[in-house]
Amino acid sequence: MAISFELSDEQKMLQDMVYKWAVNWLEPQMEHADEEDHYPEGFFQETAKLGLNGLCIPEEYGGAGQGYTEALLTALELARVSNALAMSWGAHLVLCVDNIRRNANEVLKQKYLPPLCDGRAIGCLGITEANAGSDAMSMRTTAKLTGENWIVNGNKIFITNAPIGQVLLFYCKTAPELGPKGISALVVDIDPKPEGYSCNKIRKFGMRTSPTGELGFNDMKVPKDNLIGELNKGVAILTGGLTTERITLSGCALGSAKAAIDLSAKYAKERIQFGKPIAEQGQIQAKLANMYCRYETGRLLALSAAAYVDTLTDKRGGKGTDLDMMAAASLLYCGEIGTQNCLDGVQIHGGYGYCLEYPIQRHFRDSKLWEIGAGTSEVRRMIIARELLRKY
Ligand SMILES: Cc1cc2nc3c(=O)[nH]c(=O)nc-3n(C[C@H](O)[C@H](O)[C@H](O)COP(=O)(O)OP(=O)(O)OC[C@H]3O[C@@H](n4cnc5c(N)ncnc54)[C@H](O)[C@@H]3O)c2cc1C
Repeated sequence: MAISFELSDEQKMLQDMVYKWAVNWLEPQMEHADEEDHYPEGFFQETAKLGLNGLCIPEEYGGAGQGYTEALLTALELARVSNALAMSWGAHLVLCVDNIRRNANEVLKQKYLPPLCDGRAIGCLGITEANAGSDAMSMRTTAKLTGENWIVNGNKIFITNAPIGQVLLFYCKTAPELGPKGISALVVDIDPKPEGYSCNKIRKFGMRTSPTGELGFNDMKVPKDNLIGELNKGVAILTGGLTTERITLSGCALGSAKAAIDLSAKYAKERIQFGKPIAEQGQIQAKLANMYCRYETGRLLALSAAAYVDTLTDKRGGKGTDLDMMAAASLLYCGEIGTQNCLDGVQIHGGYGYCLEYPIQRHFRDSKLWEIGAGTSEVRRMIIARELLRKY
């Protein structure tokens, strides 16, 4: 039986549309926006017009009804121009909106999904806390049911989109005495800011146009009915979501890996040293060849993970699933080759690669995030080894 590695015509059209839009609308703003660390106003309204904000949400809720393969391809094309805004888009769609779609009851879906799909609202997801990163289950934020509201106390850190967002999905302990078995997911409107909620923007060396927030909850009220899924069953939602998140976000790392090739190949053909383009030097050619091989390997690995999840009826990962291993492998590999390709790209650009006018340095600063965010490389290796050893 033949295996086809061809994308469909529709998938190619989606890629083309997203990349052309990013080049025309985003690219001219990126150098200045990165320098000033500001979010390009209107980004999410523009992506909504393209149908991207609810890309993998069913049409009945205002989405485009596509799969994770299309989400991966979209992240990749956006990230070729801006890894940071591809991350913001991915955090909105796969971390927040898709988790609401998969786990919330019908009333909450009807309330939250249409505005999140049509550009009226931007979503974010809060797992990480100041003292609970890789060990997310040790989170200390609590929610206590008092009358008609949950009273929430605690903090979240590194929350993508929080400074510009309207809807926050977050995890907290509703039964702290039960440890991880006492975690639940809640959704809350954060614009305007509810009483007892604070958000400070974090300064970063990369992903600068993607606003990241540090959140405080001080007796913040969340309506009782804003519970996502079942009480104390938040871990299944959290781990289930992380797999599709890791697969889609592999596209962000791949986008910078591809941009590094495009920028470096062009530069190498233009830059003359020793009387000829540096592209004619064997050592430069070897770097470009390695960059290409890494990118193609990562692309095929991520696409195979996306194609696999698109065939599953139950797309939940978690301990004991091949999906968990494939998703972790996809982001582990793509994250590491993304950084490596950008490092080689900077080297090919020589001193100019170190200067802020040349976008290769921005891709380098941005792509490092993909060895850290959505579970670090170390955590991904732990997951892969756990699932691999289970089979022997
Ligand atoms: C720009 C950005 C955006 C982010 N967006 C979001 C978001 O939207 N929502 C959200 O909830 N979180 C978000 N995060 C948080 C991210 O997921 C965490 O930073 C990540 O999970 C690591 O947690 P930590 O930073 O606390 O590192 P730590 O867990 O403290 O880890 C520090 C180091 O120790 C290593 N380490 C830890 N435990 C082990 C172990 N058992 N074995 C071996 N090594 C170990 C880690 O791999 C790492 O190298 C974001 C982070 C950044 C920087």
